[in-house]
Amino acid sequence: MSDMFKGYKGKALEVLKRFKVRVWSETTINTTRGEFKGIILPRSENDDDEHLVLKLATGYNIGVDIDTIIEMKEYGYKEAHYKIPEKEFPMSPEKPYVKLFGTGGTIASRLDYRTGAVIPAFSPGELYGAVPELADVCNLTTEKLFAVFSENMGPMQYMTLAKAIGQEIEKGIDGIVIGHGTDTMHHTAAALSFMVQDSPVPIVMVGSQRSSDRPSSDAALNLIHATTAASRSDIAEVMVCMFGPTSDEYALLHRGTRVRKMHSSYRSTFRTIGDIPIAMVTRDKITPLKKEYHRRRSDRSVKILPYFEERVSIVYYYPNMHPDIIDSLVDNGYKGIVIAGTGLGHVNKPLYPAIERATKAGVAIYMTVQTLWGFVHMFVYETGRDLVNKGIIPAENLLPEVAYIKLGWALGQTKNLEEVKKIMLTPICGDITDGEPYNGYLIYQGGIPEVEEFIRKFHK
Ligand code: ASP
Repeated sequence: MSDMFKGYKGKALEVLKRFKVRVWSETTINTTRGEFKGIILPRSENDDDEHLVLKLATGYNIGVDIDTIIEMKEYGYKEAHYKIPEKEFPMSPEKPYVKLFGTGGTIASRLDYRTGAVIPAFSPGELYGAVPELADVCNLTTEKLFAVFSENMGPMQYMTLAKAIGQEIEKGIDGIVIGHGTDTMHHTAAALSFMVQDSPVPIVMVGSQRSSDRPSSDAALNLIHATTAASRSDIAEVMVCMFGPTSDEYALLHRGTRVRKMHSSYRSTFRTIGDIPIAMVTRDKITPLKKEYHRRRSDRSVKILPYFEERVSIVYYYPNMHPDIIDSLVDNGYKGIVIAGTGLGHVNKPLYPAIERATKAGVAIYMTVQTLWGFVHMFVYETGRDLVNKGIIPAENLLPEVAYIKLGWALGQTKNLEEVKKIMLTPICGDITDGEPYNGYLIYQGGIPEVEEFIRKFHK
């Protein structure tokens, strides 16, 4: 196959030839769905022959259905090379030692245009080649544990990570960074918060919303901020370090059990829910925002508790949910269910008998709230009280995903439901708090004059 049409075959190849358009050419494509402009990317050899892949000016790649194409025209040509130069990472004894564990996700990747796949760029040498500032921060060593997008993370990976972290701490590391896909970073952060307790060093998770081949990538800044936090901060907790919401100048450190991805594409996608972030990180400063946190220590003791019961589920309640949803979980041997209920923690009446059957069968059921902010309150309405009588346990202000992880972790240790309850309702690392601070819940609506005035101050 000619190199001009890298990876294209069958129908797709015919179309490229018909319009004399090459891979890497800047092209206008007229389709029945409108006009698209961008660079034709090479196609994975394993992919179908029904689509062309076009990189838009925004950096996003789209697939254009061959059957919709009316006309195509080249207007330029831009071959891209994304080889990251590998340089030896300069080590010096006066800098702190940081270990970076790779699990995958956008942060660890660059696009391989030959296959269309996103492949990892990960050794210390590659990272140093891409982000030389890292050498000013710490002595970095890396280890690739997995190379998956984060929807593929799960209990096995959580436990492997927890054990690997334990070993590094024992060996004397000053801080740990975990590169991770952003989509489920908050699940893993919660899992590690429970599985790695009383760490003497910071454990900082980091990701990026935009891959490093895009001009607006947050990968480099996030990495610099995360390694800074891991090597210099005195906050020895499991945290997520990601882009701050009001400028590029800083990242926020979010507690692992209170953090959530809240936007599908913004770089400042992570928010602390039900609290304020622990700290702000710039290149040269870490500013704590909270007073209470676990401090860094020089000893090497840490508790690694790698347990997980996989037959645990989370049920997001919707009006008119039928009881067979709960029944089928019980019939399939699930041992724990977290419900994300409406308002203060409600589900409809038809679910009550199913819930009673489930709890009588020994299934642990915990209630959380879909609102994310605020506490479950099941004693305000009679219906809530009924549910509690049927065996549902209100889970305070555990976030639904955190409750799911905690229940899996608790049931992984014991099947005694009283013990599980004790574990679930005892705060371990900010997962349950005494209350929300007055400045925790801040979701403003644009358009309101005073909000607009506030936004204008930092929106350039
Ligand atoms: N889908 C990716 C993941 O979560 C997105 C990212 O890395 O930000 O692995």
